[in-house]
Amino acid sequence: METARAKETITVLRRLIAYSEKIFGLSREIVAPISDRRLAPRISTASVVKSTAVLFWARMGSLNALELVAKARFWKKWLGEPTCSADTIGRVHSLLDADGLRQGIHHIYDRLKRNKALPDFQGMAAAVLDGHESHASYLRHCSGCLQRTIHFETGDRVQFYHRQVTLLLLPDAPQGRKPVRLLLDHEPLRPGADEVATTLRLLARVIRAYPRAFDLLLADALYGTAPFFNFLIARRKHALVVLKDDRRNLYQDVAGLFDRVAPKPGTYRSRQCSWWDFPDLVSWPQVNAPMRVVRSLETYSVRRQIGKKDSAQTSDWIWATTLPSTQVSAERVVRFGHQRWDVENHGFNELVNQWHADHVFKHDSCAIECFLLVAFLAYNIFHAFLALNLKPDLRKGRTQTFWAKLIAAELYAEVLPASLSP
Ligand SMILES: [Zn+2]
Repeated sequence: METARAKETITVLRRLIAYSEKIFGLSREIVAPISDRRLAPRISTASVVKSTAVLFWARMGSLNALELVAKARFWKKWLGEPTCSADTIGRVHSLLDADGLRQGIHHIYDRLKRNKALPDFQGMAAAVLDGHESHASYLRHCSGCLQRTIHFETGDRVQFYHRQVTLLLLPDAPQGRKPVRLLLDHEPLRPGADEVATTLRLLARVIRAYPRAFDLLLADALYGTAPFFNFLIARRKHALVVLKDDRRNLYQDVAGLFDRVAPKPGTYRSRQCSWWDFPDLVSWPQVNAPMRVVRSLETYSVRRQIGKKDSAQTSDWIWATTLPSTQVSAERVVRFGHQRWDVENHGFNELVNQWHADHVFKHDSCAIECFLLVAFLAYNIFHAFLALNLKPDLRKGRTQTFWAKLIAAELYAEVLPASLSP
């Protein structure tokens, strides 16, 4: 009996928490320093942040869902005080100290870096930038909402939304483990500000806080502007950006060369590629360094559902970068370029699709910013746990959703109505 009971208490959620306490000092080092602006708080800030971390770990998607499991035994030990209501959690997030949450994320980075869990990818520390909209509504709005006019046949309507620029660190995998990708920070777009200006604000803060976390920044075509490149050049960082804009002189310059210069053959995964590599281009004078353009024309076969026949597909990539051709080969540039798209399903898309991180838990700028930062904390801890603590054998064949469902099941099992108990 005793053994059965002992086993019963070793659960995924409790093990995740034990891991975070041991490796990151979660309660003392991360949560305890976070404060909020309430004058006479009855519920501690720590309790609110810890409850929200569990909300994300269990992928509950709403504060009401969290309230439904408020009677679970689990909370007593985890919070050391009574659980708080959905209203309180929402209200406290609108008064939370975002910087304190950012320092918590930094602490996780420091520990993982010290434990050698964040090795460079292809000999360089790389990060990726991504912009994301958190919700859109015609009705609900706040003073921090961005707005745009949508044209309908019946007339124009103003749509309200929030948008953030996010930075995700892309380390290589530690030996025998999966890579631990870390969401380092995000910056909300303020009404009237443009995306590049917001990005530079984010980068200024991140580079100040993490001067050596990345040497190379990967980004979508949207960010490929002179101020963006110059900002990074001035801080001795490299950029690699998709080159799409056919109005740019740089693009026109190289487009004329593709037909005249023979490409080099190469391979990326199972794809046959033709690579063009043009370093030292000066046709973008607004950028304070010569630019390099690399194109990869890739052919691969796809098996069609109907008829089960293979058909050839091609994809054509063009990147503009400051990476020097003397140090970084075209092949490595292509791998870095693809790294941006390989993470499409990780990072932000994963947060939205699986973690419900774009749900508006409380419609208020500060609350939206802080719920997202707590989601980053929860995401980083969860992925470190999965990759570094769970034995590869135990992980094998089990998706991360499987572990998230187990976490939720632990909480629900503890609030089983008495008449249903075995
Ligand atoms: Zn709003």
